Amino acid sequence: MSLDHLRHNAAELQRLLPSGCRLMAVVKANAYGHGITEIAGHLNRSGMDSFAVAEIGEGILLREQGIQGEILILGYTDPERAADLAKYHMTQTMVSLEYGQALEALGIDLEVHVKIDTGMNRLGVPHQDTGSILRCYDFVNLRVTGMFSHLSMSDGLGPEETEFTRRQIAHFDGVVAQIKEAGIDPGLVHLQSSYGMLNYPELRYDRARPGIALYGLLSQEGDTVRCQAELRPVLALKATVTQVKEVQAGQPVGYGRRFVPESDIRIATVSIGYADGVPRMLSDGGGQVLIRGQRASIIGSICMDQLTVDVTGVDGVMLGDTVTLIGQDGDEQITAGEIAARCHTVTNEIVSRIGSRVQRIYVE
Ligand SMILES: *Cc1c(COP(=O)(O)O)cnc(C)c1O
Repeated sequence: MSLDHLRHNAAELQRLLPSGCRLMAVVKANAYGHGITEIAGHLNRSGMDSFAVAEIGEGILLREQGIQGEILILGYTDPERAADLAKYHMTQTMVSLEYGQALEALGIDLEVHVKIDTGMNRLGVPHQDTGSILRCYDFVNLRVTGMFSHLSMSDGLGPEETEFTRRQIAHFDGVVAQIKEAGIDPGLVHLQSSYGMLNYPELRYDRARPGIALYGLLSQEGDTVRCQAELRPVLALKATVTQVKEVQAGQPVGYGRRFVPESDIRIATVSIGYADGVPRMLSDGGGQVLIRGQRASIIGSICMDQLTVDVTGVDGVMLGDTVTLIGQDGDEQITAGEIAARCHTVTNEIVSRIGSRVQRIYVE
C-alpha cells in the first residue's frame, strides 16, 4: 500500500472541491480492502477529520485506534446499540422516520444525519415526503447535524444517465431549500461520492464522500469522467512462488483435472487463492499474473489457498519469486480494473474482497 499515493489522491480530490467543502473519507469494508485502521489512521494524522463507515463495528474500530473527528455510519444500526453510538461519539444515519422514532424512544442523546432518498430507492426518507423530512428535525434526543443523499448513476455520462442524476440533484436541492425555508439549519449537506465528484464538480456542498477514487481507482477502468483528476492506485497484491515443476503433456493439473496440457510445460504454484480474494472466475486461463516482469496465465482451478500458473515462457522462475496479481513488475502491469473487467464486476468488489489473512504492508 502506497501511503504516498493515498495522500496524493486525497489532495487531488480535495482540489476538485469548492472552498469550504471537505472530504469525508469513506473507509468502509476495511477501507476497500486496504486496511481500515492504518488507512484511516494515516489520513487522520495528515489532517483528514471526517470519515464514513458502513456499520458500527467499523466505527468502533476507528475510535479504538484513536481516530479523531467525525465518523458517520452510512447504514442502519440496531437501536439496541445506541449506547455504543453515544459512547464512541459516532454520527448515525437516520435511514427513515420510523428508525428515528425508534432511536428517539431510547432517550439517549445522539447525533444523526438524515438520509434522503432521491431516486435510488435504497435507504432514506423519500424526497417527496416533506412532512416526514421536517419531522426528523423535531426529535429531542436526536440532534440532526447533517443531511445527505446518494447518486445511483453518476458514473454514466450518457444523456439518460445525466438526466437522471440531474433530477436526483434537483430533488436533493429542493429538500435542502424546504428545510431552510422552514427556518431549520440542515447542518452538513453532502451528496457526491467518487463519481459525483469527478462528473459533477460544479456542485457545492459541505462534504463529499469519495471511496474508490481515494484508493486511486475508478470502478471500471474504461470509464471516462468529466474532471481530469490524476489518481494513483494505492494497492498492489503480491504472492510468492512456492514450487516450480515440469508437467508432461496429458498430465492433469489441479482439482477436477480441469487443465490438461497438450505439450510439456513448466508450472509454478503460487501462495494465494480465492480465500485471499483472487476470484475463482480467473481459473483456467481466465486471468494472468506477473512473474519476472512477464505475464503468465493462471491454469487449472484456483484453490482456496493456492493457484498454478504456466511459466513455460518465463525464463528462470524459481522458488521464492514474487508474483504480482495486481500491480507493476518491470514494464508489465495488471490493474484492479483489468481483473474487474475479466470478472464482469467493478474494482470496488475486487479490492474489498482481498482476504483478511493477506498481510497489508504500508510504504511511504
Ligand atoms: C460506499 C458509499 C460511498 C463511496 O462510494 P464510492 O463510489 O466508492 O466513492 C459514498 N456514499 C455512500 C452512501 C456509500 O454507500
